[in-house]
Parts: sequence; C-alpha cells; structure tokens
Amino acid sequence: MLHHAGTGPRTPARARRARALVAAGVCTAALATGCGTQSQAAAPPTRGGLSVSYQAPRGGDADERAFLRGRGLPEKVAADLNKAVRLPEPVEIVGRSCKKDDIPEYDPAGGRIVLCYGFIGEVRSMFEADGDADPAGRTAGVVTETLYHEAAHALIDKLNLPFTGREEDVADQFAAYRLLRQGEAGRAALLAAADNYDQYARESDPADADPSDEHAPDAVRSANYRCYLYGSAPRRDRARERRSLVDGKRLTKERAELCEEEHRDLRRGWDQLLASHTNDR
Ligand SMILES: [Zn+2]
Repeated sequence: MLHHAGTGPRTPARARRARALVAAGVCTAALATGCGTQSQAAAPPTRGGLSVSYQAPRGGDADERAFLRGRGLPEKVAADLNKAVRLPEPVEIVGRSCKKDDIPEYDPAGGRIVLCYGFIGEVRSMFEADGDADPAGRTAGVVTETLYHEAAHALIDKLNLPFTGREEDVADQFAAYRLLRQGEAGRAALLAAADNYDQYARESDPADADPSDEHAPDAVRSANYRCYLYGSAPRRDRARERRSLVDGKRLTKERAELCEEEHRDLRRGWDQLLASHTNDR
C-alpha cells in the first residue's frame, strides 16, 4: 500500500498493523509451501545463528527485493549479530511478498523473521511524499532498524532472556543499542526510524488509539529513539545534533535531561542480558 498524503484513508499506526499481522497468522505456514520460491543460495540454516533467504517476489515487489538484496541489509544485520552473539538455534531472516498491509514480524514457531517486500515500498513512498532528499537511504535505515527490532524478539525467545516491562519497548531499545554502536550510519538509521514513526503517527487517526496495544504509540517510539540519540551524543562533539533533536515537540527539553541516563541504562541492560551469550568481549 502506498502512502496517500492527506487524501486517501489514513494509514494505520505501524504498531497496530503489526498486531493485525499476528492475529491473521499471515502466511507463515505457507512460508514452506506457497509463498514463493526460496532463494537457491540460501538454504535453511542447519546450525545456530542468523541466516538470510529471499522468496520470489509477487505482484510489483521485484524492485523491493532488488533493493533489499542490492544493499544487503539483512545480510549486514545477520553478520553483525552472528559476530556479537552466540545463538545456539537457527533464525532465518526471510524476505518475501506478504498480504496487503502486513509488516515485518518474528515468527517464533518457525524461528523466522519475516520482512515483507511491500513494507519497503511503503516506507520509501512516505519519505518520497515528504520530499526527503534521500528516500532510498532513509528507507534502508528504517529497514535496518526494523530488522534489529525483530532480531531482539528472536534473541529474547531463543536465549530465554529475562526482562521487565513490555517486550516491544525492550526490542526498540535493542535496535538502538546495536545501531548506536555503528557510528554515523547507525545514528542515521535510528533517526530515519524515528522520523518514519512520526510519519505514521501523523497519518494515524487518533480515534484508533488503543491503550491496550502492546506497542507504545508511534509518536512515543519516535521520542524514545530521539532520546537515545540525544543521550548517546557527546555534549561537546555533537552539540549541534543535540540541539536539533530537542525541538520541543518530538523531544522536549524536560525529557532530554533524562536521556543520557536512559541511554546508559539501556546499554547496561542489554550488555547484561547478553553477557553470557556474547562474542564481543
Ligand atoms: Zn516487535
């Protein structure tokens, strides 16, 4: 589905659409049978760790698959996490065409992270509609953040990681945790994700707000990412970046005062969660 700025039906929040995907069961069973052909180069993993495969695109998804493969986004995330974490069981990142409005998810039954080609086109069209200077690069950032978020669900599941609070918040924190270790590219990806959550928030009908949603509202997820960007930015070296993040709306001055501590806490939390599973040290 493409973004229609202000004229068509409102775009559901990214979080609400994620829940709809789980409720519908999508085509997880068909992953093995009817959802397209598996890439020959990517056989299902037989050992632990993350692997990547691509199913044949349907409809108009060929460009999105080419975008994903060309940039090697799932491969980069898989390589980063395979280097950092010892995952005893296999988890496969599967690129594929999905039903309309489906978005990425982790399927615990199949040990798969499903990345819908259509989601890539939707995000890109949102950046294009906003007149973004680099819609392709920004889309790649959102996809990378999404893959880390879904990978967090996989790690929590496969490593039986303990935590408190909502798993969705913990997964967002993991995406920030990994991206903020990756210099400018990681920071740009996290900011692209924050901006994309703002776009979804803008397009959502407030009447659809669901207080029982397991995800935080999109605007809150955006504010959290801005907070982690702010909190991880050295005061002296990144003074301009810090100022640009605190616009009084998407991130307030009051919240910003807490962000260094929030960032430190999330880093310490994930360091400890992965301490007995890490290859990093
Ligand atoms: Zn999630």
